[in-house]
Amino acid sequence: MTENTATSKEPIKASEIDPKFKYELSRMHGSEKLLRCFQCGTCTSDCPVARFSDTYRPRTIIRMAQLGLKERVLNSDTLWLCAACFTCTDRCPQGIEVASVIRVLRNLAAEKGIVPQVFKDQAACILESGYAYKIPELRIKKRETQGLPPLPKGNPENIRKTLKGVKFLEKTEKEGEQA
Ligand code: SF4
Ligand code: SF4
Repeated sequence: MTENTATSKEPIKASEIDPKFKYELSRMHGSEKLLRCFQCGTCTSDCPVARFSDTYRPRTIIRMAQLGLKERVLNSDTLWLCAACFTCTDRCPQGIEVASVIRVLRNLAAEKGIVPQVFKDQAACILESGYAYKIPELRIKKRETQGLPPLPKGNPENIRKTLKGVKFLEKTEKEGEQA
């Protein structure tokens, strides 16, 4: 079975390679310097997420993008592990905005609807309530019994207005209406 991670050990097939992908990425804001990567590994060795993961390797993600392994990298679960701390971007000796390349790849994945369910649920919750997760009734009641003031009301209308045009959220909204 194919492992759904960027570090999958599955051999690469020539048919998987999209030679135009690296040029496509090089024209996008944030990933312009992708081709400069010489695989030194600094991004991975300094990445706080890689330190605690057996599979998350920003260097590998960059290499896969350079090689044109478009479908493999966009379908990789590990793409979503990046904490966007920008350590890699600060340390890359080639001036590559590694964190931004990962953002670009996530955006491309999101455009294709490839987003982990946990983020879809979170987005749906924000659009519905203004909160990133549904506050359990039990907690609301507990606040009352403890004499705490009610939580401020979320303003999903304003959030929707502010985030108008974000394709992933528009898709999430549509999916919510169809459900
Ligand atoms: S630090 Fe920069 S040059 Fe080195 S592997 Fe990472 S992206 Fe490539
Ligand atoms: S931005 Fe992402 S890839 Fe870069 S160091 Fe932070 S967690 Fe790692």
